Amino acid sequence: MIQFPEIQSRVQFITKINEIELHILREDEIHATISGNKFRKLQYNLQEFQKGNYDSILTFGGAYSNHISAVSAAGKEFGLKTIGIIRGEEIEDKINENSTLTFAQNCGMKLHFISRENYRNKAEDNFIQNLKNKFGNFYLLPEGGTNELAVKGCEEILGEHTSNFDFICCAIGTGGTISGIINSSEKHQKTLGFPALKNSEFLKNEINKFTSRSNWELISDFHFGGYAKVNEELLDFINEFKSRFDVNLEPIYTGKMFYGIFELIQKQFFPKGSKILAVHTGGLQGIEGMNKKLELKNKTIIK
Ligand SMILES: *Cc1c(COP(=O)(O)O)cnc(C)c1O
Repeated sequence: MIQFPEIQSRVQFITKINEIELHILREDEIHATISGNKFRKLQYNLQEFQKGNYDSILTFGGAYSNHISAVSAAGKEFGLKTIGIIRGEEIEDKINENSTLTFAQNCGMKLHFISRENYRNKAEDNFIQNLKNKFGNFYLLPEGGTNELAVKGCEEILGEHTSNFDFICCAIGTGGTISGIINSSEKHQKTLGFPALKNSEFLKNEINKFTSRSNWELISDFHFGGYAKVNEELLDFINEFKSRFDVNLEPIYTGKMFYGIFELIQKQFFPKGSKILAVHTGGLQGIEGMNKKLELKNKTIIK
């Protein structure tokens, strides 16, 4: 049975501003290649995979996906066959120019490219059946890896070592990670979710599928124009954060969340004396791909 080591990540003090303490939970440090929350989301899914009679794990993602990267790395580490269905046919000829896909392929993941149009059907029965005809009896992980077992894994992010914080902050893609965090939060804690997407109204429903708790709130003002969109202000913030606190952030999730937290502190959103814990969900592999795009446009790159 695949057994991930039981890991409690490190709480690191970042700064104190206006009597508000900010700490960071270093989930990014728990594994070199199965990074951060993706490690948590995979653990119980890999066990379920092993219990069944599957011959591979199949999942979906964009060309820079942290999830694709983590699943391929898990495949390599545990000797499992993995298949990645990648959004965008045009990328197939440019795998070598994309560090995420090159990594996934080197880990042994079989990459299959489909059009953006086709990709939208990825949750439909018909579409899945076609994939089964093509790839055989696979264990299906949805895009981003979110399902009940992923949420269960993310319930292990918090613990006794985090119980004295007042606010837990977490970046959101599909909502799986924050759902696990909410489920294992203390009654006196409030979890704040920072969506990386522009249209995040649907997330309330998504999160409510996985939790019955109500001690949480979405902070939807820090998407910077949408998923994977960045501007100079965000990039400067990430570089300054690195030079001041020696912690790397990536621009899709954690950079935007921390930018938001600092702005909320400035706006006195948090009561005086609050202790905030921001979860570093990892994903640093994405920096290389982002920098490549920024360099082409002569923009600031992430150091
Ligand atoms: C995938 C990812 C998230 C979002 O997690 P969800 O469970 O999809 O909400 C947040 N941060 C990082 C770094 C990620 O890679």
